[in-house]
Amino acid sequence: MTAGSPETPSAGATPSAGAKPSAGAKPSAGAKPAATERPAASDFIRERVQRDIEQGTFGGRVQTRFPPEPNGYLHIGHAKAITQDFVTAESFGGICNVRFDDTNPDTEEVEFVESILADIEWLGFHPANVFYASDYFEQLYDWALHLISNNLAYVDEQDGDTISAQRGGYGRPGIESPYRDRPVAESLDLFARMRAGEFDEGAMCLRAKIDMQSDNMWLRDPVLYRIRHGHHHRTHDAWVIYPTYDWAHGQSDAIEGVTHSICTLEFDSHRPLYDWCLDNLPLPYEQPQQIEFARLEFTHTVTSKRRLKKMVAEGVVDGWDDPRMPTLAGLRRRGYPPSAITTFCVEIGTARTNARHAIESLEAVVRRQLNAVAQRRMAVLRPIKLTLTNWPTNDDGTPVVEWFDLTNNPENPDDGTRRVAFTGNLVIESEDFALDPPPKFFRLSVGREVRLRGAYLVTATDVVTDDDGNVVEVLATYDPETRGGDAPDGRKVKSTMHWVSVPHSTPLTAALYDRLFAAEVPGEATGESLDDLNPNSRELLTGCLGEASLADVEGGQVVQFERLGYFAADPDQPGLFHRTVGLKDEWAAIQRRQQKA
Ligand code: ATP
Ligand code: MG
Repeated sequence: MTAGSPETPSAGATPSAGAKPSAGAKPSAGAKPAATERPAASDFIRERVQRDIEQGTFGGRVQTRFPPEPNGYLHIGHAKAITQDFVTAESFGGICNVRFDDTNPDTEEVEFVESILADIEWLGFHPANVFYASDYFEQLYDWALHLISNNLAYVDEQDGDTISAQRGGYGRPGIESPYRDRPVAESLDLFARMRAGEFDEGAMCLRAKIDMQSDNMWLRDPVLYRIRHGHHHRTHDAWVIYPTYDWAHGQSDAIEGVTHSICTLEFDSHRPLYDWCLDNLPLPYEQPQQIEFARLEFTHTVTSKRRLKKMVAEGVVDGWDDPRMPTLAGLRRRGYPPSAITTFCVEIGTARTNARHAIESLEAVVRRQLNAVAQRRMAVLRPIKLTLTNWPTNDDGTPVVEWFDLTNNPENPDDGTRRVAFTGNLVIESEDFALDPPPKFFRLSVGREVRLRGAYLVTATDVVTDDDGNVVEVLATYDPETRGGDAPDGRKVKSTMHWVSVPHSTPLTAALYDRLFAAEVPGEATGESLDDLNPNSRELLTGCLGEASLADVEGGQVVQFERLGYFAADPDQPGLFHRTVGLKDEWAAIQRRQQKA
């Protein structure tokens, strides 16, 4: 929707452009309790619901809904709303539905409906019903006629910019439309003709007649219907007038029997309008109540469909499910366990004050969960050859192959072990070797002994260089007495390194990720978040070598590459692994720094 369309309150008003408020604020901060690691502590919303139950409001019933507009993919912020809606209902034995707020044909698509439903299921929540606001268009139209007939709404023929300007602002009076007091019959006639498609977009709109001097800008004769000639993904071309968010939302809640309509803080100023609409209709239903909480936002990323959509459209990411995106589809591809997301949403609690969470705090939960379940594997991302010059050969001249049983997950003995092949033809990380070791470099250098994880102690003896003097191969000897990695004489080494036997390796590509946005608050300086994009948010490493069993990792599965982090196998491209998170708990370090300060 363009700024200046009739439903847009003027500059200076709390709400920003659009039929729905967009979140300009900078926040912070199921049940299927199986969806989360631990049961939620109570929050102010559930305390309120508890009180309603005790007082018999709604006959003790609890019904919530998650109301996405199908105009993009869900992001991590939506996960907070979804968790809140489902966990609130389920902790009182109530139900939660999904209702698509599909009231704008120009921006909504079936692709988004489908992705939203899939993402909710992925999080581990199962809506009792899936509803659509568009199913209520006829009822909403009838109720609009009711308002007009009761002299509570009128057709305004002014354009959007004029209506916006006349709305005034705080401390500035509103100006009444010259059409405000037109006869009821005239509005009824024009509204019917609006529906019949006689007029162009923007030619007129239906407005509630409330109070042009109200301190609440949303009560200054808000727009209830606008003309849209676009094709709707469900009602097709049946309608050319569409209800605004404010006209559709509360009534849809009432029709469905929602008891507690939980939404984010930017709707706080809409609540009087939400209640006004319900108060003035002949509802056969109980009136739902709207409750607001703070949006979930993070540092170094954006949680706004509009901004995410722009990134997709401009090609700065590979799509909605790019692993750098804060979309649920992106986080899924990145390897985030859905229960880490819902657990985080529960652990941070529910606030009525906006704040921005450090992205590291979410990563800490992801790491904690993956540590418990991810199988350990060895992979070398930037290989350099390590040749054991005293490795034995068989009688037929072929090199000996030894097999080691390595623990799959020290956190979970039930995961058992796997067999990994070892030979004298190895690769190690090139950064694990230094020709001129700097102080405190305890890894491999000529003359130094280190442990090859689970296998043997080895000592570098020499290097092979290319014409430019770069080391291309490290020569070493192994100590046959140290099988398993320990010396019988008890001598210690300072470093244990991962390795892969080249004849038994599987080729891999690894995608390493950094923050999508360099700035903590993207767009803070210029107003345009894309200005703060981190140009180095992805590093693609080809030519990595992993132990043979990595060829069997199924798409979507996450393993730990020892010493390197957790990596998720791409669901579509075999051999491609996305780094989910590194091993270092940066959140713990941040907290320690904060405590010191
Ligand atoms: P966006 O601003 O990203 O487009 P939206 O609010 O327009 O999001 P909707 O599809 O209307 O997207 O959102 C559905 C529900 O999700 C609403 O109840 C909204 O309040 C909630 N929601 C959206 N973003 C967040 C967030 N960052 N934190 C918590 N809840 C959110
Ligand atoms: Mg919004």
